[in-house]
Amino acid sequence: MKTVQDYIRTIPDFPHEGIMFRDVTTLFADPRGFRMAIDQLLHPYAGQPIDKVVGLEARGFILGGAIAHQLSLGFVPIRKKGKLPGQTIEQDYTLEYGTATMEVHDDALQAGEKVLLVDDLLATGGTAEAGIKLIERMGAEVIGCAFIIDLPDIGGRKKLEGLGMNVHALCA
Ligand code: AMP
Repeated sequence: MKTVQDYIRTIPDFPHEGIMFRDVTTLFADPRGFRMAIDQLLHPYAGQPIDKVVGLEARGFILGGAIAHQLSLGFVPIRKKGKLPGQTIEQDYTLEYGTATMEVHDDALQAGEKVLLVDDLLATGGTAEAGIKLIERMGAEVIGCAFIIDLPDIGGRKKLEGLGMNVHALCA
């Protein structure tokens, strides 16, 4: 039987030379692959109290939407700056070159809510850390961070675990 990893292709030198881009569109496009990925992402959280699913732009929206539907929960997007129409809070984070800003609607989460954070891939952990900070600034609690892919050599898992996070990933 195929594993989740079997459905993911790697495209060299995208978007820059030297980057091995993990393309999950081939996983999303396959009915068995996509379903397997959602089931496996959810597995550790079955029976846990979760109030909302939060997804990071952009592939975290596809995964987070499917997970929220499966759990009958609401979904909250964390977006790159300038895309959300309402009042937002912002969080800067470091990229390979320079910085970027993520934001979330300031009324999207309530204090005390328990949140599952979702994205496709964990590399440095900078994007997820920005998401965690936004969630925590609203008084909500991240009970898990779920990814399809963890690139362990880049250090994201260590960074998030250092923040006290539970990290779940399906493949490396
Ligand atoms: P980071 O903040 O370094 O953990 O990077 C994670 C974010 O960048 C995720 O939203 C990923 O979708 C994207 N990303 C980083 N590296 C890659 C890669 N090699 N292939 C695909 N997406 C990546």
